[in-house]
Amino acid sequence: MHCPFCNHADTKVIDSRLAGEGRQVRRRRECLKCQERFTTFETPELVMPHVTKRDGRREPFDEEKLRAGMLAALQKRPVKTEDVEASIERIRHRLQTMGERDVPSRRIGDMVMEELRRLDEVAYVRFASIYRSFQDVTEFQEEIQRLRAQPHKSREQMSLLPEDDEP
Ligand SMILES: [Zn+2]
Repeated sequence: MHCPFCNHADTKVIDSRLAGEGRQVRRRRECLKCQERFTTFETPELVMPHVTKRDGRREPFDEEKLRAGMLAALQKRPVKTEDVEASIERIRHRLQTMGERDVPSRRIGDMVMEELRRLDEVAYVRFASIYRSFQDVTEFQEEIQRLRAQPHKSREQMSLLPEDDEP
């Protein structure tokens, strides 16, 4: 790390300790040239990436939208809420640990498909068959709502919806 005083390229760490209740490492450094001392803090970068759409738009990751999209696919399916939450947590964790600033919405959709496949085969097929023609989870959710709002139209598409699972 460059010295902030003389810009020399080499500094040495003279002390290193945990800070911020263990969430940070605080380092005391000394410049090898001017001998000035300074402190650095190191924190893990666990920032949620932004989501980029196919049309280039970029927006913050929205966990609520992700949850709503998954729940739309899981409607009336025998899946426990805690299992859905565990899936969402896994997706969140993957996104955080990728270390990317931007993640294409497609990639998140693929993660959702992976998780749904584990949770419930029917929800997976529902999601996969409809999602693939949309840009992201939100659009999928909107389409489901649109179709549900007009139950007498689009009968063929309706076959993917929960009502048709009933005996
Ligand atoms: Zn220096």
